[in-house]
Amino acid sequence: MVISFSVTQVMLSLFHAKVEKERTMKKQSPTSQSLQDQLAQAHERIAQLEASLQPLRQQDNLEYRIQATLLEDIGSLLSLINSSEDIIWFMDRNKRMLLANEATLHSFKKGQDIEIEPGMLTTDFLPEELAQYYDKIFESALTGKTLRLNHTGADKKEYSATIQPVKKDDEIIGVSVFARDITQIHHLQEELRFYEQIIASTPNLVALLDKNYNYQIVNDAYLKAFDKKREDLLGTNLRHLMGEEHFTQHAAPHLKKAFSGKVVYFDTWINLPNAGRRFVSITYHPVRNQEVTPQHIAINLQDITDLKEAESDRQRIFEVSLDMLCVFGFDGHFKDLNPAWTRTLGWAKEELIKKSWMDIAHPEDQLSSDATFEHLLNGESIIGFENRCLCKDGSVKWLAWSSYPDPEKQQVFSTVRDITNRKRMEEELLLLATTDPLTGASNRRHFIEQATFELQRSRRYGSQMAIIMLDIDHFKKINDNYGHSVGDEVLKRLVDCCHQELRTTDIFGRFGGEEFAAILVETDKKSTIKICERLLQEIAKLRIRTAQEHVSVTVSLGFTMHSADDVSIDPLLKRADDALYKAKNFGRNQIVCL
Ligand code: GH3
Ligand code: MG
Ligand code: MG
Repeated sequence: MVISFSVTQVMLSLFHAKVEKERTMKKQSPTSQSLQDQLAQAHERIAQLEASLQPLRQQDNLEYRIQATLLEDIGSLLSLINSSEDIIWFMDRNKRMLLANEATLHSFKKGQDIEIEPGMLTTDFLPEELAQYYDKIFESALTGKTLRLNHTGADKKEYSATIQPVKKDDEIIGVSVFARDITQIHHLQEELRFYEQIIASTPNLVALLDKNYNYQIVNDAYLKAFDKKREDLLGTNLRHLMGEEHFTQHAAPHLKKAFSGKVVYFDTWINLPNAGRRFVSITYHPVRNQEVTPQHIAINLQDITDLKEAESDRQRIFEVSLDMLCVFGFDGHFKDLNPAWTRTLGWAKEELIKKSWMDIAHPEDQLSSDATFEHLLNGESIIGFENRCLCKDGSVKWLAWSSYPDPEKQQVFSTVRDITNRKRMEEELLLLATTDPLTGASNRRHFIEQATFELQRSRRYGSQMAIIMLDIDHFKKINDNYGHSVGDEVLKRLVDCCHQELRTTDIFGRFGGEEFAAILVETDKKSTIKICERLLQEIAKLRIRTAQEHVSVTVSLGFTMHSADDVSIDPLLKRADDALYKAKNFGRNQIVCL
């Protein structure tokens, strides 16, 4: 509201604005107070004011007479100023309140509980400091100057005020004060400044285009990226910056869509003067103001080159990794997996995606796999879980899994390694460490380990247990007569024979040279004698082919039963060994029990 013409003119324009507003308000709200009612109230107020001005007029003061002349048309003036929401009041040359509109009366009443009366001095209705300030301004206005100022009112609201001289016949007869509550505008301006700061400080490139694709606003990042000065870019067309062809192909279709009211997102490579080729994420956001169709498009460009590169690096690692990498859902089904899966198990990606990881687990490992899956679903990471998986060609591979569940996304990330070779080597090592390489029987150390374990079990459960020592009779002669390899063959055939005669739960081992031992679990003495007799017979039946003839051997057997006194395996072995010694001494090819 700039007042550079007569008060009445301003009033008239205010009045028109008010009437206009009234009309639109009426359309929106039929119950709103009609202008007629307001005017009637204004007339009532004029009558009151005139009555209160009466005593002042009677003082026959020249100033008041002039004011009275001014106020000839007070009726229409008051109704005009009362129709304004702005605070409007007039002071006379003596800086006394002459006339105030409803908004002023209401504001002072509400803000400071002061009833504005004609004739009041500024100190009567303004705080001391503000009153002094205003008086100075009034003095200035009385010399013919128009002043504009912003101040915080006693009611804590922000006001923008215009103070100007009121003239009658070229003579200054007082001052008018127009104050507008700009609290809301003030807040909006602050908010706007806040947004401006964000836009100015964001590393994103931000610009506003009008309907003709001309730049209206650009932030510093935008200018820097395109190496332009603000004055070079503002008002120019986007197609100039992009080049006609590039604009038509890449920007125009998206902009059209945005001007139809849709937010458009897309990623693309662009060339920047200094930074070179960059991958950017672009948003075209329609800006509507009060119009129905968007009048502007806000452009936001975010440089995501680093992100893109990191992503493609990750993808490369995913592709070339020797380990199998996969993501599966909480339903167990594969969501994504890398080519290492196909290389290792033979299944194509498409075949695996249809499956659950449980579908390819070896039947014997289903239970442990199920249990592991339960842990994962409970949010626990599982590192180093091993199971066997079925390959497409029917073979089986050992896999080691490290799995990390993401309960939020309901999925599990796994790195999986083929450990089949390691498992095979471990099995071989175990075999080497526990068996005799020539015959395949348990070696002495492993036999004693197993025997100790069985002894403890027998003691715990009170079951019976026998221990047998077996030695080939005159074995030295076999070696001497037929050679060492025939001797070896005899040893192998004897072990095979013993394995056949004994139960799988029994333990059989090579104790040294041509000496063997057996543990018969849960076996009483009677049964032991039977088994020993069978061994004696079956071994004697063996025929080992040599270059010259078929060779046979006999064995001597010594055995003993476990008793409550045997707390370790040593006395048992000793007794069985003594029994064997006796069998040898008694002439071999026989059984002795001690
Ligand atoms: P006895 O009836 O008293 O047991 O007589 P023996 O000849 O069987 O007993 P002795 O202890 O005199 O000889 C055992 C022989 O077994 C000596 C050794 O050369 C032979 N021997 C030990 N280990 C092996 C082997 O791994 N292969 C072969 N071929 N012979 C072995
Ligand atoms: Mg012997
Ligand atoms: Mg011997």
